[in-house]
Amino acid sequence: MNTIDKFNEHVMGTYGRYPLVMENGSGETASDETGKKYIDFGSGIGTNSLGYSNSDWADAVCEQVRKIQHTSNYYYTKVQADFAEKLTAAAGMEKVFFGNSGAEANECAIKIARKYSFDKYGKGRHNIITLVNSFHGRTITTLSATGQDVFHNYFFPFTEGFINVTANDIDDLKAKADDTVCGIMFEHIQGEGGVNALEQSFVDAIYEIAAAKDIVTIADEVQTGIGRTGKFLAGDNFGHKPDVVTLAKGIAGGLPMGACLSGKKCADVLTSGTHGSTFGGNPVCCAGGLKVLDKAADPAFLEEVAKKGEYFRTKLGEIPEIAGVSGMGLMIGISLKTKDAKDIAKKALDNGLLVLTAKEKVRLLPPLTITYEEIDKGMEILAELLK
Ligand SMILES: *Cc1c(COP(=O)(O)O)cnc(C)c1O
Repeated sequence: MNTIDKFNEHVMGTYGRYPLVMENGSGETASDETGKKYIDFGSGIGTNSLGYSNSDWADAVCEQVRKIQHTSNYYYTKVQADFAEKLTAAAGMEKVFFGNSGAEANECAIKIARKYSFDKYGKGRHNIITLVNSFHGRTITTLSATGQDVFHNYFFPFTEGFINVTANDIDDLKAKADDTVCGIMFEHIQGEGGVNALEQSFVDAIYEIAAAKDIVTIADEVQTGIGRTGKFLAGDNFGHKPDVVTLAKGIAGGLPMGACLSGKKCADVLTSGTHGSTFGGNPVCCAGGLKVLDKAADPAFLEEVAKKGEYFRTKLGEIPEIAGVSGMGLMIGISLKTKDAKDIAKKALDNGLLVLTAKEKVRLLPPLTITYEEIDKGMEILAELLK
């Protein structure tokens, strides 16, 4: 039986998959089982931050697998300590909790906001504001947090305690940030929602209201963090530090890891026995993460990411079919005038280019290490498709 038939017979059909079987990757290029090559402008949804099998990263990961692949969190490991030290320093935060995914990182953030409030004010202050069109994950609670009605089906009852505010509507935020609210969770650039950046004035308002009411600010940087926007955190582009930051996707270069980081205010909210994860902070993932930080925490590398983002934007600006380009750095949303984004993504595949979509846009999340040569090659394919 061929792989696709076998797969469909045995794996739950939760994804609309493209009919191709990925087998290898090198640098910015993936290849399928027939040997056909693809320039990757998607990097596994922003996850292979250093591209495919970056040699420093692969060496560190393999070395760690041979040393110790896992131990329970009842013991310490040096590699987790080293990674935590560098990660908190890069993010400008105090402490971190490690899980395995973005959804788990957000679950942790929600628990922190609620416990911070409970410890200080008692019951009745458990609501968390999230934004319309947000995306925070696929667990029951993070689906609840996600401000898109399409995600609120089938799985009732959902977790209570989330209030949606329209992004960039300061009056709506003011009206809903009442005395029942303990947290505000938001993406600086809504990724799955269509690569839409928040307005500076709205982000300013979030911090102003949160400070006045002792509300915990939670930046979901699962997609925008780890250098994606040309700063280590997307929030650094807006000039604020949230109380809590969540990271995942690109954090370990393609290995499963999520992280929930806290500033001073909430660093000691979660105490012994209040949270946990068997795999969280796995040594192999931490070893990969350290190699990602060697690059993504380096200001010169981040400047390069920003420059490449500008280069993409200049090239995209020359294509008449493109109505607009959104996002920051190497997180790019492309609005089309007449063509259909999903159709373009499918055609790109036939032509040896991997792109993503987000709502009605074509979305690009290339590896942070992409070269100008690969950008040119991929853009040539995209420009041809958009003629
Ligand atoms: C992808 C994503 C998540 C969910 O991450 P998983 O690792 O799939 O659980 C949460 N928030 C944002 C902003 C994301 O882009």
